[in-house]
Amino acid sequence: MKLVRLVYYSHASREMSLSDLKSILDTARRNNQAEGICGMLSYEQQYFLQALEGERSAVNELYLDIADDPRHDEITIISYEEITAPIFKQWKMGYAGGSAEFTKLLKEMGQTEFLPETMSPRQAFQFLQHLAGNQDNL
Ligand code: FAD
Repeated sequence: MKLVRLVYYSHASREMSLSDLKSILDTARRNNQAEGICGMLSYEQQYFLQALEGERSAVNELYLDIADDPRHDEITIISYEEITAPIFKQWKMGYAGGSAEFTKLLKEMGQTEFLPETMSPRQAFQFLQHLAGNQDNL
């Protein structure tokens, strides 16, 4: 079985409320569990940054579904790689938004705004990895 990690960013078509985010996360957690997919989602300043990990064809199919979702656009893959084991395996889909830790992490990366389009593949992955340890309860 080939395992992969896909990281992408996108721009929300409108400002997301907490209940919008909760609805995305509820669906993600339900579906991802069934597909053996895990990952991490962050949202701030109308940008999403998400990592998806799992079996290659399952991740590919999910990405195509997500890319079709009218709640966001400008969907751009930052990285796609084969992995030996998932990093986000504790979370069917973890979540973190603009918390104090989030802002601190951005600062450490020399950024004042959340602009995933300026992140390198390594930065995007490390950012999500750090956030996974400091999640919001949604
Ligand atoms: P349902 O949730 O029942 O949705 C049916 C259809 O309605 C879908 O086409 C959906 O796109 C659309 N829809 C649902 N709610 C809304 C709404 N409020 N506004 C507009 N259209 C809507 N899904 C996952 O399974 N795993 C993920 O990790 C995941 N991550 C996501 C990350 C982001 C940033 C976004 C925007 C969506 C994500 N989704 C995720 C949702 C995904 O795009 C699909 O909506 C979902 O997979 C469809 O699930 P479902 O078949 O259970 O249908």
